[in-house]
Amino acid sequence: MRLSRYFLPVLKETPSEAQIASHRLMLRAGMIKQSSAGIYSWLPLGYKVLRRIEQIVHEEQQRAGHIPMLMPTLQSADLWRESGRYDAYGPEMLRIRDRQDRDLLYGPTNEEMITDIFRSHVSSYRDLPLTLYHIQWKFRDEIRPRFGVMRGREFLMKDGYNFDLTREAALHAYNRHLVSYLRSYERMGLQAIPMRAESGPIGGDDTHEFLVLAETGESEVFYDSEITDLKFGDRRIDYDSVEECQAVMEEFTSRYARTDDTHEESAFETQVPEERRRRARGIEVGQIFYFGTKYSEPMGATVVDPEGNRVPVHMGSHGIGVSRLLGAIIEANHDDNGIIWPEGVTPFHVGIVNLKQGDEAADLACDQIYNAVVEAGLEPLYHDGDDRAGAKFATMDLIGLPWRITVGPRGLKNGVVELTSRRTGESEELAPDQAVTKLAQIYAGKL
Ligand code: ATP
Ligand code: MG
Repeated sequence: MRLSRYFLPVLKETPSEAQIASHRLMLRAGMIKQSSAGIYSWLPLGYKVLRRIEQIVHEEQQRAGHIPMLMPTLQSADLWRESGRYDAYGPEMLRIRDRQDRDLLYGPTNEEMITDIFRSHVSSYRDLPLTLYHIQWKFRDEIRPRFGVMRGREFLMKDGYNFDLTREAALHAYNRHLVSYLRSYERMGLQAIPMRAESGPIGGDDTHEFLVLAETGESEVFYDSEITDLKFGDRRIDYDSVEECQAVMEEFTSRYARTDDTHEESAFETQVPEERRRRARGIEVGQIFYFGTKYSEPMGATVVDPEGNRVPVHMGSHGIGVSRLLGAIIEANHDDNGIIWPEGVTPFHVGIVNLKQGDEAADLACDQIYNAVVEAGLEPLYHDGDDRAGAKFATMDLIGLPWRITVGPRGLKNGVVELTSRRTGESEELAPDQAVTKLAQIYAGKL
């Protein structure tokens, strides 16, 4: 993409309404525009990152054997009356009436709807296990929407639902989700720690929240510092293996890590030596629940088991805050000059800066590098404007592409361009083709 043909409405001024770095930077980098409280348009740059995050979530869910689908945003109130949640959910639910006087709601989550789909089409244990998921907009009429996309009213969530014959099988689904979430967050360049959580209006016995440590996080967290050394890395895992998934779950959840809802000071002190006790703040980027037959029983989602008895299925639901993740990633990856995208989610893989637009050699070299980057399967953003070099660098730093290739007449005389890391600020002089080869190598392991 050439910047001259793109739509990147960067702001010079720091917007005064934004209280935290990620919100400020998303506005300044022209990623989002608020349309009303907690509701945003996703401008091209923000939309690109949102799609990258979605893509990672899709790939990792499907790797775990979970099946994508799509349910609507508007739901019938009658389904929610069956589970009893139409009245229980409270003022966060946006209730709508259509012209036939039927009660609808903008879905804050989808347990009822997926349970209805299940009971309409599945009746035998032979069709289990089954995990369906979608990535869809949700609406929760938050009393205090704030921090940009972190606490929106309309937000994008991946929510998945498992259906299993027994509690044991459902707990395997729970563990499978835990593993796939660890992988997903790491691919996004994030460490998200599973912490014991208390169940909210969704209800359940077993639940973990995934938290990204950040000073601006809304949750208070308490954990054993050893937990931050754990990495999932590139290990291979057989998602069908109960033992393998269980082992990962135990590895990542056996140390003390809790949010303030479940924190117990005395347990913290007896389980964790003082020098490893950490009290910090975190951003919730996901949550997994096992809730048994909470919905299947009242809603009649049953299957015939091998003995011929009709039994309610064991379920769980598992969410990832797709749009909130943009804020969380920026909170964990920025400096005074702007965003620093992890390679796995960056909107463009490399920025090309032409130091002297209109110089024949520089223009030609930029075009050649641009084409070579595209041929390597990567997306460049070419700053082809007439701005001063300093202004071009400032824009590139603000929007946070992890790598920059700087091309100028002086370097070209010596046959070199500069490859610069946004994160470290370090530059290397390389022949243009070597710079592209190096970029391709860097990304080969990261995408
Ligand atoms: P919170 O405690 O932050 O209000 P929640 O526990 O009510 O969130 P869940 O029902 O667990 O949310 O939803 C799954 C994920 O969706 C959360 O882990 C979070 O990342 C994201 N999410 C929830 N509410 C919002 C919101 N208002 N704006 C953006 N993302 C959200
Ligand atoms: Mg939650």
